[in-house]
Amino acid sequence: MLLREVEYARPSSVDEAVRLLASHDGARALAGGQTLVSVMKARAASPDVLVDLSRLDDLREITVSGDTLQLGAMATYTQLMASSEVDVSRPILAEVAAQIADVQVRNRGTIGGNICSNDPTNHLPPLLLALGASMTIRGADGDRTVPADEFFLGVYLTAVGEGELLLFVSVPAAAKAADGFASITIGRDGTCIANAAASVSGGETRVALGCVDAVPILVTPAATDEDSVREAVADAGLEPPSDVHASAEYRRHLATVCAVRAVQQAVERGR
Ligand SMILES: Cc1cc2nc3c(=O)[nH]c(=O)nc-3n(C[C@H](O)[C@H](O)[C@H](O)COP(=O)(O)OP(=O)(O)OC[C@H]3O[C@@H](n4cnc5c(N)ncnc54)[C@H](O)[C@@H]3O)c2cc1C
Repeated sequence: MLLREVEYARPSSVDEAVRLLASHDGARALAGGQTLVSVMKARAASPDVLVDLSRLDDLREITVSGDTLQLGAMATYTQLMASSEVDVSRPILAEVAAQIADVQVRNRGTIGGNICSNDPTNHLPPLLLALGASMTIRGADGDRTVPADEFFLGVYLTAVGEGELLLFVSVPAAAKAADGFASITIGRDGTCIANAAASVSGGETRVALGCVDAVPILVTPAATDEDSVREAVADAGLEPPSDVHASAEYRRHLATVCAVRAVQQAVERGR
């Protein structure tokens, strides 16, 4: 289906982009377009103005400063996979980016687009929640930083409000971090039916479950053994959706399986 008519702007600075977003009702940032253009074609979204972020090279940067890895919102999955900064400071990000869809999607799709769309089946929301990331957002009133625990609000709904722009994501740098990720997908590298990301650090285990609710669900098992992980997932009282790929009961089972696998992987890597 063809797109309906839409205004288009391609700002050359971040401030200009924020001005454009804030001054037009119904304006939407366009990153890799891998989700937004599809939903526009399906008429599920109908922005009046597209603010194309492709000229904002500042937002593509991946840097390490002290003990923080900073990922520009416009960094693509392919960039994450090729980045030496990611490789030395939090390699799980590259590993998971490599599992997303296909080469075309990985070349165009961005970390910012992935988490701002917050599709419950996406790979990066649970991963960034498990890693304890934080997101820096610019709006008309300046910049603010929101922890991942407060960033995801619903399907297609995040702490990035109307007229605001996600600038970058900060992740604690820890080259030998005990991180893991497990998923059950529709076919190889397909959409996730269930996924889980885990990070074990300083005696704390964070496990974020994807595909089971509108937002990723964080659980914190008391220990890393299988029984503790199973107990923590059971205590979360998950009520996952039922669809053609999995009933709610089967998806709840898969969530537990993914959580156990992700924690086991994290523990093995931390040895
Ligand atoms: C065939 C196919 C298979 C896919 N499979 C998977 C998969 O298995 N796992 C997975 O995780 N993803 C998958 N995706 C989705 C893909 O990862 C998208 O790239 C991603 O969800 C959106 O990123 P984008 O850069 O294309 O953003 P866009 O589509 O351009 O934007 C998405 C949304 O985010 C907003 N946005 C983007 N950047 C910003 C910003 N900096 N500030 C504020 N708002 C912003 C936009 O306004 C829009 O609402 C798939 C996509 C396709 C086409």
